[in-house]
Amino acid sequence: MPVLDLRTVIFLSGAIGVLMSLVLFFMHRSHRHSIHGLGQWAAAPLLVFIATLILGTQGYAPAWFSVVFANLLLLGGLTLFLTGTCRFYGVTPPRWPWLALPLVAALLYLWAVRDPNYGLRLMVANTFTAGVQVHNFVLLWRQDRTSLAGRFTLAVLGTMACLSLSRVLSAHQLPADGHLFMPTALQSFFVGSYSFSLLALTVGFVLLTSERLREQLQHLLGHDTLTGALSRHALFERGQQEVARARRTQRPISVMVMDLDHFKQVNDQHGHLVGDRVLREFALRVRHELRQGDLLGRFGGEEFVVVLPDTDAEQARRVAERIRTTRPNDDALVPVTVSIGLVTASQLALAQPPQGTLDALIAQADRVLYQAKAAGRDQVVVADSPTTT
Ligand code: GH3
Ligand code: MG
Ligand code: MG
Repeated sequence: MPVLDLRTVIFLSGAIGVLMSLVLFFMHRSHRHSIHGLGQWAAAPLLVFIATLILGTQGYAPAWFSVVFANLLLLGGLTLFLTGTCRFYGVTPPRWPWLALPLVAALLYLWAVRDPNYGLRLMVANTFTAGVQVHNFVLLWRQDRTSLAGRFTLAVLGTMACLSLSRVLSAHQLPADGHLFMPTALQSFFVGSYSFSLLALTVGFVLLTSERLREQLQHLLGHDTLTGALSRHALFERGQQEVARARRTQRPISVMVMDLDHFKQVNDQHGHLVGDRVLREFALRVRHELRQGDLLGRFGGEEFVVVLPDTDAEQARRVAERIRTTRPNDDALVPVTVSIGLVTASQLALAQPPQGTLDALIAQADRVLYQAKAAGRDQVVVADSPTTT
């Protein structure tokens, strides 16, 4: 490997790191309420860049400044990356790196100023960075090892941890009077790779952020923002898949249409905001009664649709009764009742399109819902067709 001019390598990758920091900072400004950790991810490359500028003064400035202080800034920057990852995933950031920093500072001071030894101080600094990187790696591994952005960032963190560990293991071979800018091929390899990895790490964090934004956008498109239930569009898309699956597997499927009773009065008497709270709480209560795999969608104002895959008429009626009879946990909330129209399609009915389509099932449940309304509300009415056809 050719010997690189390490001052140039470090300076250039640090400067590009600052540009990446700018990207992360702007993302932080736009999404600070919905995505956490971007502030730390943006600040970290800045700290690293300042550290590299100070490291560049080695040989001119005193060692406590150009070695000890610069290294502490660098290690602080790496710890900020870890803090950012923790906040990004809603995990409490660890305290051990900040608690270990004073010890690292003391050892660096000892082996940079009192009894200069390049190998020993390199070992101390790299033990610390290896720890931070392994911690960051394990955290990300637990949170996201499936997306492309997650895998890329894991690969970078893994490479950085390996570089730091191999540095620790090979530190004893280094001359005591060595320094960061030693013009050897091995030093070029380590310093060049590490600078490049730091840059790649910020790229990884930008990719993770854009992946998160895509997920949030997709969630927004597929869900109703007030109640968290599926949007009408998503309900139809997923509901149709469930109907097709029921037809394929020859299993029954049930559909409920629910409408809150006299909801206009809630708004009129208590205000629209209270009405909103009632809707949110109702959706929460319904979800609580459903299994994983059941679908809850907001069909319109105070109308909801539930799709129960693999559920026969009797089971569905029990679920509907449970929903009808639940009451809010919060006594202060205005009590509302609900009317429910229910239809179950057997394999026979599903085999007869257009009767066995989601639209037809919803239309049928809607018809019996109006029977429930006409019969006095607060009740479940079950359609007897197409269950028996
Ligand atoms: P019924 O028992 O016959 O269903 O009577 P209702 O009052 O519930 O029915 P109606 O269709 O007359 O009124 C529905 C009300 O739901 C009217 C509308 O203002 C209210 N609504 C629709 N969407 C929202 C919403 O997002 N928030 C709030 N607070 N109210 C909503
Ligand atoms: Mg209505
Ligand atoms: Mg209503």
